[in-house]
Amino acid sequence: MTTTELPALAATVDLAAIGHNVRVVTERAGAPVIAVVKADGYGHGAAPVARAALAAGAAELGVAHLTEALALRAAGVEAHITSWLHTPSTDFAAGIAADIDLAVSSPRQLAAVIAAARAAGVPATVTTKVDTGLNRSGIAASDWDETADLLAAAQADGAVRLRAMMCHLAFGDEPEHPMNSQQAQRLDEAAADLKRRNVIPDVLHLANSPAALTRPDLARDLVRPGLALYGCSPIPDRGDFGLIPAMTLSAEVALVKKVAAGQGISYNHRWIAPHDTIVAVLPAGYADGVPRLLSERFEVSINGRRFPGVGRICMDQLVVNLGPDGGGVAEGDRAILFGADVPGEPAMPKAVDWAERVDTIDYEIISGIRGRAQRRYV
Ligand code: PLP
Repeated sequence: MTTTELPALAATVDLAAIGHNVRVVTERAGAPVIAVVKADGYGHGAAPVARAALAAGAAELGVAHLTEALALRAAGVEAHITSWLHTPSTDFAAGIAADIDLAVSSPRQLAAVIAAARAAGVPATVTTKVDTGLNRSGIAASDWDETADLLAAAQADGAVRLRAMMCHLAFGDEPEHPMNSQQAQRLDEAAADLKRRNVIPDVLHLANSPAALTRPDLARDLVRPGLALYGCSPIPDRGDFGLIPAMTLSAEVALVKKVAAGQGISYNHRWIAPHDTIVAVLPAGYADGVPRLLSERFEVSINGRRFPGVGRICMDQLVVNLGPDGGGVAEGDRAILFGADVPGEPAMPKAVDWAERVDTIDYEIISGIRGRAQRRYV
């Protein structure tokens, strides 16, 4: 198969798969989705993913940095967006002007949002991000009363409007872990505490992908999945939940060449051809997000057949062994490095296969595809 319409190295993103995955999560969770499109949509492109997710029924969007939310606005995305990772230099005035829901993690952050809202003469929409046990960002227990008092006063005088309360799970990918229910309970308790101060959020949300798919009892008003929307199983041991991988990373075969028995391949000759063979060179390397640690621990699919990587993965290129007969592969053929299965063809390598072999998670693999990998949307 020659696919000249694709660039030499392509990250093809199937937006219909994003839509399908939104529907899968919504149905399993029994609650609407806040589509998490931080880190440029986990490497898939934040704005196109956001539009596809919203078209499939996602209710809102979530990002980490405020700059990510502002970029979505600049791209014309009008949906409700929450951003939850701020620093002392975050430009809250810009967030208020763009009508971004600012999730605050401390009384200092809330005070800065209130000051920006008063200066602008426009009420800020805020979410309280409660640290219910992850001990990362979120309002610490020791800061809770100060934050709640500040919020109650600012809500009473119209400087802010509390839209939501959220927290993030420490053990979402271990659905039966007792911390999950404890964290939900702490969020509920924080909401009850605010209610006693006459501050009532519209919505609560805490479930990430694994919790949304396996613990509907934690869903509250909305769920907040990222990974699952991109079609990766958040708990691979429990199967794929019917999700469809949205990203296919593919490369055009650059060269096909003969290598004689005893010859070494790539830097330091880590692989020596045991017999005369034919290899293919692909234009993908660690600068594009293919981990160097994956050297000789991956396979690619070409024309429906699997071929193993041999020798060290380099910055720009890698080599696969086609075997003595060359496997019928020609220069210009398309090699799938990972991606969605094609009906009627053997299973494709998956991002999670890479992740398992280099001791990481597929979040890191998909969000790390970069360099010369050009995105194409289908
Ligand atoms: N909510 C917050 C605060 C996050 O940081 C993340 C991602 O790490 C998510 C939701 C989405 O998590 P996941 O990709 O596991 O669904």
